[in-house]
Amino acid sequence: SKHEGKNLISFFDVAMQQKADHRIQIESQLRIAMAENQLELVFQPQFANNGTYISAEALLRWNHPQQGMILPEAFIPIAEQSNLITLIDTWVLEKICQHLKEWQEAGLCFGHIAINISSKKIKQQSFVDEVKKILQGVGVSPQSLMLEVTENIFIDKIEIIIDKFKYLNDLGIHFSLDDFGTGYSSLAYLKDIPFQQLKIDRQFIRDILLDTNDEAIVETIIAMANKLDMQVIAEGVETVEQFSKLKLKGCEFYQGYYFSSPLVNAEFVNLIS
Ligand code: C2E
Ligand code: CA
Ligand code: CA
Ligand code: CA
Repeated sequence: SKHEGKNLISFFDVAMQQKADHRIQIESQLRIAMAENQLELVFQPQFANNGTYISAEALLRWNHPQQGMILPEAFIPIAEQSNLITLIDTWVLEKICQHLKEWQEAGLCFGHIAINISSKKIKQQSFVDEVKKILQGVGVSPQSLMLEVTENIFIDKIEIIIDKFKYLNDLGIHFSLDDFGTGYSSLAYLKDIPFQQLKIDRQFIRDILLDTNDEAIVETIIAMANKLDMQVIAEGVETVEQFSKLKLKGCEFYQGYYFSSPLVNAEFVNLIS
């Protein structure tokens, strides 16, 4: 009836308003979090076939004064809806350089550290200069840094992206294509954009022993990476069986709970010492 329809509309209005309020609240709290040092990077180590440490991925954590530790899933997607994500990217870049400098000065061998950078940030005109300025300002070697980017980078203005990647490649910064196979995959672009690494999404690793389609996809990704001269890394490796299967398929590098969960700075320093 007319009456019910009206109730339905007001129900959705309330739900939408609550969602918008939640977003605005998270956004304003995130700005405070950055200013008040509530954000922190943790480090998940990455390993070679023979189990030796190779490199690590830095992951964001939010230590909220009331709510405790908040995982990125609860705030990164909201930050991505506005330019706030680009401020977070800058924060992560500055923070990782401080860590790299500290580890460098302590004489630690950390290999390279991968950070997640939003496509929005990379598309900003000032991106390349900003990265250069931060690295030079802190005094860390660009070879220490890998930038993980998702496939939505392929959506527009590909020529400008290629130029930026090439410029940063020349400085010594490498790129990894994150969550490969889950987004806007364009195999045509894959050969034009200079990625040094392909990261197989954990959705394909999860059922690799049960689902022959997932097994076939992983096999194909590894073969393609080899042909294109890219490193290949599997994420979300949780069991020794998954590790063995991936090893058999020729995967080179591994990240996941089977090897290690993300570590806070002191734990990570302990691992690489
Ligand atoms: P991602 O880049 O795919 O990162 C891997 C996620 O998988 C991490 O979750 C990690 O803790 C989790 N993980 C690692 N090993 C395993 C495993 O064996 N099994 C399972 N089930 N999960 C595993 P986290 O830290 O919650 O990050 C979630 C996502 O948030 C990241 O996904 C990334 O897209 C985003 N993110 C994290 N840190 C940053 C950041 O500094 N900047 C930006 N822009 N995004 C970030
Ligand atoms: Ca990542
Ligand atoms: Ca990933
Ligand atoms: Ca993923």
